[in-house]
Amino acid sequence: MSNNITYSPRPIRRVLAPSLYLEKIYDLPFEWLTERAITSVVTDLDNTLVPWRDYRVADQLAGWFDSLHGNGFKTLILTNARPAPTIVELSRTLNTKLVVGARKPVSRFFRKALELLDSKPHETCVIGDQIFTDVLGGNLVGCHTVLVERIGHREFAGTRIMRLLERLVKMHMGIGK
Ligand SMILES: [Mg+2]
Repeated sequence: MSNNITYSPRPIRRVLAPSLYLEKIYDLPFEWLTERAITSVVTDLDNTLVPWRDYRVADQLAGWFDSLHGNGFKTLILTNARPAPTIVELSRTLNTKLVVGARKPVSRFFRKALELLDSKPHETCVIGDQIFTDVLGGNLVGCHTVLVERIGHREFAGTRIMRLLERLVKMHMGIGK
């Protein structure tokens, strides 16, 4: 018998699997964060906090950020969207830090977010609606990751192609819809 077979699908599964799966950000239990000594929350923007390219701030979203801050959590929005005044305005309204024009899942942008938050990866939770950008990128730098369902169905054409692959991964993990 040969012992030379090194292939294992597990490491791939490990970097693509979120620590937690939720329908929406508002379902996130703050105890889940505190139990893990998480002090910082990094969130994606489009289809995680707001519908794609709709940067108006709903009361529920403002309230969610207020309660995060009120409970002592530091926050930052990390988005691949191109810089725009409407996004800056949104981050000001939510009183949160912002990294715009990122290229998730590239680690450099997650490390920049950690630096701005002055947080270590194990103290940080990355929340987003995409496995191949938010979850993969967060896992690669050693953060906790939360996958949520996308808010709307409108999105960037390139994203729609990745959604097919994402659906397969989610089926394999037995999560999502
Ligand atoms: Mg998104």
